[in-house]
Amino acid sequence: MDTIRDRARERKQYNRKSNDGIRLQQRVQDRYVSKLVEDARRPIWAMGCPNCTGGLLKPVPEYAHIPAPLYVARIAQASMGILKFCECDAGRAYQIFLRKKYKDIVAKRDVYPNWDGIAQAAANPPATRRGG
Ligand SMILES: [Zn+2]
Repeated sequence: MDTIRDRARERKQYNRKSNDGIRLQQRVQDRYVSKLVEDARRPIWAMGCPNCTGGLLKPVPEYAHIPAPLYVARIAQASMGILKFCECDAGRAYQIFLRKKYKDIVAKRDVYPNWDGIAQAAANPPATRRGG
């Protein structure tokens, strides 16, 4: 009896652990796919120049801490001046695009669920280690 119960408990624990693993893996995959889709949507000129990545100067800020798809996270970051745009066509176009999207949100022409939470997260990036 005990062995059966123990086995059932072990199995339950194992399933719970692997579900957590699967969920984490799914989130990482979602982020990766989101990035791929964003890249694929861009025309060649929008990929940027040798000085930037898609119009953003390095270091391109992290967005993993922001509970939103990449393009929404970038709107929030741009609205707070966290992004540094390149002088090339990609940089200018991206800046204009993100500014317009932000104006739409402020004017309630566009609504994102939990925008306040997104903006809050964008304003508080995780501490990064600098220097050496
Ligand atoms: Zn550039």
